[in-house]
Amino acid sequence: MRNQRLYINTIGCQMNVYDSDRIARALEPGGYQQTHVLDEADLVIVNTCAIRAKAEQKAFSFIGRLARMKRQNPDLLIGVGGCVAQQEGEAILSRMPQVDLVFGTHAIPRLPQIVNQVKTRRIKVVDVEQSDGIDEIDLAAGFHDDGQVSRCLTIRQCCDNYCTYCVVPYVRGAEMSRHPDRILSEIETLVRGGVREVTLLGQNVNSYGRKEGLPSFAELLERVNGIEGLHRIRFTTSHPKDLSDDLMEAFGQLRKLCPHIHLPVQSGSDQILKRMNRRYTHQLYLDRIERLRSIRSDIAVTSDFIVGFPGESREDFEATLALMETVAFDSVFAFMYSDRKIAPASHFKNKVNEDEIKKRLQELLSTQETITMRKNRALVGTFQEVMVEGNSTRPGLAEAIDDGPQWSGRTPGNKIVNFNMGRKVDPEDALSVGQLVEVRIEKAYAHSLRGGLVRKEAPTGCPGGKDCHAA
Ligand code: SAM
Ligand code: SF4
Repeated sequence: MRNQRLYINTIGCQMNVYDSDRIARALEPGGYQQTHVLDEADLVIVNTCAIRAKAEQKAFSFIGRLARMKRQNPDLLIGVGGCVAQQEGEAILSRMPQVDLVFGTHAIPRLPQIVNQVKTRRIKVVDVEQSDGIDEIDLAAGFHDDGQVSRCLTIRQCCDNYCTYCVVPYVRGAEMSRHPDRILSEIETLVRGGVREVTLLGQNVNSYGRKEGLPSFAELLERVNGIEGLHRIRFTTSHPKDLSDDLMEAFGQLRKLCPHIHLPVQSGSDQILKRMNRRYTHQLYLDRIERLRSIRSDIAVTSDFIVGFPGESREDFEATLALMETVAFDSVFAFMYSDRKIAPASHFKNKVNEDEIKKRLQELLSTQETITMRKNRALVGTFQEVMVEGNSTRPGLAEAIDDGPQWSGRTPGNKIVNFNMGRKVDPEDALSVGQLVEVRIEKAYAHSLRGGLVRKEAPTGCPGGKDCHAA
């Protein structure tokens, strides 16, 4: 009998990407092998995200399209997981009769039994029960070397912060941290399989371990830094109110910790931050950035913004633009505020009209575009450590085509760099994915940099920027 084919459509954040890996891992012993071709699937799973209305609509429109496939192949199984499943439960079955199973954010370890029930008893199953503990599926236990040198892993589930616009605390349950020994052993296995960079994930990694009395996040980073063979450590997301001195200092102490922090600010207005229940002020945020830069002057800072939160006046919005200019972020994600019915802000008065939100979003993005270009241009002429991620597929590099093979990778500050190796390249000289090389930056674009290879090796943890040998 041929293996069953599993197709997973992952919508939303990196945490969902990790959960999709766990889904695949959980179903593997039952004979499900992942495919990237939808038409050959026996089981399709949609791993949904409820953070913003747009992500939810995307999930429902994809599930809607699956109805035709199901009519053509009644044996096809369709499952819906993730935050929308957790939030809507049974209602998904009435709205989308083609769906066979609905499983919440804590049900991934029970998936083999759920799928089995659906198949053998020909029933529909909904499992949105939330568990008290951590749902451990050791991702690394059956890990296949699939050529990916950079992997994400969740170190902390859920969130207790209750920002007034956010669904996470309601759909993901109470926050919990994984034990450091499990995290360490998972990373060690990944590294043995060829992984060179890990991104530690959590809605608020800064408060890792606090509730459970485990080592702090800074201590965890120190242990991860000691893993032989690992080149780079990244993490996301940090909450400005919980950014400890220890963690900030780690950027000056741990060679493998990349100088990049994603620190969502959401707004620059104190009254909006208060209504969002963010528990910091514009000034406290600026103080944190100043301290980070005093420890690591080349640290890249990125952020999230919500535009048009209920009650946001033009003056509030200008406070946001002012904060953007002062901080000079490397890049940002900006979202139009969207009502989520289980989040308190959906009941707030003074909603901003959609046209105004769109206008403000454009203004914010174009302000950031100018800042990003300025920051990228400032890197021209510097020497950067780049971790090779693959051959460059970016078009528009015609002038470089004669200049030998094109490669791409990222700087420690997480900027994409496309680079070439020079005209006379011996095929023996090919680079390998995961290798750290040194590249001189020659051109800056809005979303990437271009450069030329300087050296085929860069010292592990070479910080780039001012401390780099050649700068
Ligand atoms: N834990 C992170 C933090 O503290 O900022 C954020 C996690 S959230 C999953 C990702 C981003 O989605 C948020 O930073 C916020 O900008 C955006 N977001 C969340 N809820 C939203 C809503 N109702 N409307 C628009 N954007 C939203
Ligand atoms: Fe949502 Fe706030 Fe928690 Fe981030 S910190 S996940 S925005 S509640």
